[in-house]
Amino acid sequence: MSKSLSILYISSEVEPFAKTGGLADVAGAFPQLIREFGHDIRILLPKYGFVGERKFNIYDVIRLRDIPVPVGKKTELASIKSSFIANQRIKVQVYFFDLPKFFNRDGIYYAPDSKKDYPDNDERFIAFCRGALETLKRLGWKPDIIHCNDWQTGLIPAYLKTIYKDDPFFNKIRSVFTIHNLAYQGIFPKSSYVKTGLPKELFNEDSGIATGDSINFMKSGIQFADIITTVSKRYAEEISTSDEFGCGLNNLLKKRRKNLYGILNGVDYSVWDPSVDELIPQQYTSKTIQEKKENKRALLQAFKLPPDDDTPIIGIISRLVDQKGFDLIEEIADDLVNLELKLVILGTGERRYQTFLSALSLKYPDKVGVKLTYDNTLAHLIEAGSDMFLMPSRYEPCGLNQIYSMRYGTIPIVRATGGLDDTVIDIDSKNSKGTGFKFEKYDSNALLKAIERALNFYQDEKAWSKTVINAMEQDFSWKQSAKEYITLYKKILKK
Ligand code: ADP
Repeated sequence: MSKSLSILYISSEVEPFAKTGGLADVAGAFPQLIREFGHDIRILLPKYGFVGERKFNIYDVIRLRDIPVPVGKKTELASIKSSFIANQRIKVQVYFFDLPKFFNRDGIYYAPDSKKDYPDNDERFIAFCRGALETLKRLGWKPDIIHCNDWQTGLIPAYLKTIYKDDPFFNKIRSVFTIHNLAYQGIFPKSSYVKTGLPKELFNEDSGIATGDSINFMKSGIQFADIITTVSKRYAEEISTSDEFGCGLNNLLKKRRKNLYGILNGVDYSVWDPSVDELIPQQYTSKTIQEKKENKRALLQAFKLPPDDDTPIIGIISRLVDQKGFDLIEEIADDLVNLELKLVILGTGERRYQTFLSALSLKYPDKVGVKLTYDNTLAHLIEAGSDMFLMPSRYEPCGLNQIYSMRYGTIPIVRATGGLDDTVIDIDSKNSKGTGFKFEKYDSNALLKAIERALNFYQDEKAWSKTVINAMEQDFSWKQSAKEYITLYKKILKK
C-alpha cells in the first residue's frame, strides 16, 4: 500500500455538530471516506455554544489548553476539545477550537433571533485560522495537507505562505482550498486587516487579498492555496469564465485555472437512502417502490393538506435566498398552483420570500404547504414523500438535495447550472437513462415549461416508473470523489 497521508480538514460547519447548509454535510461525510482509505484525517471546527458537550461526548484535552492566538494587538487564549465521528468501520478525530469569547454563541455566523451577522466575524475567523496553525504546533502533529473550506478558513493559505513560511514545522505543509459557494466571500473593512497580522504588502488587489478597499478572505484562499477545488466541474468552469458566476474573482480564478479542479461532492447514503432512513415512516427500495406512497400520505398530513394519492407532489427544501430561484417561482406562482399538483416547501431565510410563501399557502390551503423552519426529519420526509423535487437555482455549486431526491425516487426538476447540470440527466436527452427535467435559461417561463413537461410525463405511469428506477440507481457516493481528492493530495506533495 502506498504511503498514508495526514490531513487536517478545517471547516466552520460539520454535521452532526453545526450546520446551515451543504458544507456541513460534506465536512461530516468526506473525512470518513478518506479515513476508510487508510489516511489520517482529522477535523477542526469551532466549539460553538450550542454544541452540547454531553450529547457529543466532547472532552477537554489538558495539554491543549490556553494556546495563545494573536488577533490584532491582543492575544486570545484558545483550548482544544476532542470528540469523534464514527461509523461501523472507522473513527475520525474531531478537534473543537474553543475560544468562548468568539464562539460561545447560539449561532454560527449570526444571532438566530436578529439574523444579523455577528459584528466581530472578522476577528472570530481570524482567530480560527491563526488558531488552527498554533494548535498544530502545540499538538506536535504535522499534517501533510491542510484542507480548508470556504472563506472562514481562507486566511490559512496566506499564513502558510507568509508568517509561517520559514518555520520548519510548517514549511512542508501544503494547502487545499475548496470553494463551496463563491458568493459568500467574507469581505471586511480595511481596518480588519491589521488584526490578521499578515504583512502589509499583501493588502493589494493584484497579488494579495484585497478587494477594493476591503479585505477578502475567500480571495486569500484562492490566491495562496497550493490547489483550489470546487464542488462540480461545471461550477469550476462557470466561476473561472464568467462575470456573472465569478463574483468579482473570475479573473483571479482564470489566472489560477491550472490549479483549479472541479470534483463533485458525494453524498452519504448511510443517512440519505430510503432503504435505511430511520427518519421516514416507511422505508423502501427500487423494488418496493409502491411503499413510497405511505410517505406521501404522511407528508400530506404533516403539511395539513387533504389526503390524495394521485396528484403529484413537488417538494422544495431550501435556504430562502436569491440563489435558489424563488423570484422565478414568485413570477409564475398562480399559473403553477393552477396546474394539477401540490407543493410542499420547507425553508428558512429572507423575509421577502417568507412573506411570499406564507401568502401563497394561505391563498391555496389545499394545494400549498409551507413550513418556515429548519427541520431535518421533515426534510427526509419531503425527499421520501414527494414525487418531484424542485431546484430552479440561479447558480448551484453542487447541490445535494437533487442528489438525495434521485436516491428517494423523487424526480428532480432543475436549472442546468453548476452541479445540478452535472448530476441530472434530462429525460428528453438522447440518452434513454434520464433522471430528471432540466431547463437552461434563468427565466420563469422556462421553469414553468419544465414543470409542465414533468407533469405530463408523470401521466405515463410506465415511463415514470422507469425513470424513478433510473434515478434511484444513480451512484453519487463519496468513494469516487474521495479517490480524486487523494490523487490531488499526492500530486501537490510531489511539487
Ligand atoms: P446549500 O448548501 O446551498 O444550502 P445544498 O443543496 O448543497 O444547498 O444543501 C442543503 C442542505 O441543507 C441539505 O442537506 C438540506 O436538506 C438542508 N436544508 C436546507 N434547508 C433546510 C431546512 N429548512 N430544514 C432542514 N434541512 C434543510
